Amino acid sequence: MNTILSRLTLFGVISLLPLLVNAVEMPEPAAHPDLLNFNKQFETPRLVKMGERVHMAFGYDYANYGFIEGDDGIIIVDAGWHMDQTRVAWEDYRKLTNKPVKAVIYTHVHNDHVGGIRVIVPESEKRRIPVYAHNSWNGQVDRQTSPLAGLVVQRSASQMGMYLSAGLEGSVGSSVGAMPRLEGGTSFIEPTDTFDEELEVNISGVRIKMIHAPGDTSEGIIVWLPDDKVMFGADSIVGIFPAIITARHEPTRDPYAMVETLNFLTQFPTEYLIPGHGRPVVGREEVYQFVRDAHDGGLYLLDQTLRYMAMGLNADEIIDRLELPPHIANNPDLQFHYHRMEWKIRGIYAKYAGWTTTDPIKKTRLTDGEEAKRLVPLLGGVKATLKAAAAAYEANDPRWAATLATLALQVAPGNAEAQTLKIAAYRAIAYNTRSANERHYLLTAANLMDGSLELPNTSEVIPASQFNTQTTSRLLAIMGTRLNGKATWDEEMSVAVNIEGEADGYTLTVRHGVLVRDAGTHNPVDATITLSRDILVSIIRKTATWETALNDGDIKVDSGEKAFRRFTGFFEA
Ligand SMILES: [Zn+2]
Repeated sequence: MNTILSRLTLFGVISLLPLLVNAVEMPEPAAHPDLLNFNKQFETPRLVKMGERVHMAFGYDYANYGFIEGDDGIIIVDAGWHMDQTRVAWEDYRKLTNKPVKAVIYTHVHNDHVGGIRVIVPESEKRRIPVYAHNSWNGQVDRQTSPLAGLVVQRSASQMGMYLSAGLEGSVGSSVGAMPRLEGGTSFIEPTDTFDEELEVNISGVRIKMIHAPGDTSEGIIVWLPDDKVMFGADSIVGIFPAIITARHEPTRDPYAMVETLNFLTQFPTEYLIPGHGRPVVGREEVYQFVRDAHDGGLYLLDQTLRYMAMGLNADEIIDRLELPPHIANNPDLQFHYHRMEWKIRGIYAKYAGWTTTDPIKKTRLTDGEEAKRLVPLLGGVKATLKAAAAAYEANDPRWAATLATLALQVAPGNAEAQTLKIAAYRAIAYNTRSANERHYLLTAANLMDGSLELPNTSEVIPASQFNTQTTSRLLAIMGTRLNGKATWDEEMSVAVNIEGEADGYTLTVRHGVLVRDAGTHNPVDATITLSRDILVSIIRKTATWETALNDGDIKVDSGEKAFRRFTGFFEA
């Protein structure tokens, strides 16, 4: 109690002194040497020969992919993310062989593994070339095209440093591959040949086994070439500590399934391992150890976190006490250059135990805003809080400085000194962290705060062709999450929506704050409209709005134009 009292007095005194916050200097752009060194491996894009007839495209893009040369054709395993980058790899590969493409295999349908496909399979070849994938591939696309697509993209792009420039002021590498870029365009071709557990094919004289092996996504598969002893391990194995869980949150990621897949991978006599990300691994013993250690590290973290959870510890308490065994902690292939270990513990906790804790304080606590209203006066007010934040910053404790500045901003939104401090603290953390993702998240946030970055329309990053795999009904359901609920408390209005080329229409009803969607058009309605699927997809992707589409003549109003115009105003762009 004495300490608290004396500290309060101290803050009271300090708050009378002139503020020095303006004197806070932004840190010099820098990067942790370990992070810089680790990312050197991805600097030179190249084709790596993996056995007699397989080439791995390494360092061209965020993810690895590969080309298998059969007797009279090529089989593609994954295709990178951005068409510009895939084009470079493909041109390099084309110098080695001119054989035609016989088949494509997707290890999973995360955009970083499928987005470059159009470079290799042009539109004209689309139906001729089979595209293999697990039969649950559409579940992943569902998420990428969900009402939260914008958030999903923004979180992914922030994590991966896609909004940052390359270099000490921005990203110094992704730690799992080359830097992904927003430019360059991304594409998608739907799988044509799917399977459930396992599929063995012989394409162009190459025996290929595809086996369902969930990893970072539930539709993940591994691709095994038994005659070549080549394994495409997909994203369970990525050359850093296994990404058993992500801070950006992927609800279908199953940490135990990923660890099981890693164990499964150790059972193959693999001589050449092409991981989903990270370095190529050659030699049976080397591959075995590489995969085994990833498995053991992942399983250790999972089981020990759950062990502590079962004892009633919360995530913070587990972070404070969980240590990795030295052979995992010191393994250069298992470093936390991607996600931080703390994030994984928090993620595991949330995945298996939700947001609450054994002590019901989380169930009773005030909101952040209400807490700040009470805490900041206890600290001596906004100025004293910022003074303490500046002192923490100067004392090389930027994490605490960022927390205090955030507290001040809760009660004084937009306070310039608090903003400056928070930006400086975020940069200081970013320039010193070993985690590429932490660096990216913080620098992105700092750039948004200082106004040097404006977020692009994130929905555009998901190609329209992925939305085309979704039913019209599901696309229309997304509109409910864009309805301004409160503004429509007193409204009741129905619009019949017809989609060109579809036999049955839909009725959208705004009813006192909710959007109800019914199959079929039923009378009476206030307006009737007709539009194409493409225009509907544009509205969902936010490249158009109901209003702009109407003004551009892309929506035909059959009746009730005035009512429909009013209806369009209920939705946020
Ligand atoms: Zn990936």
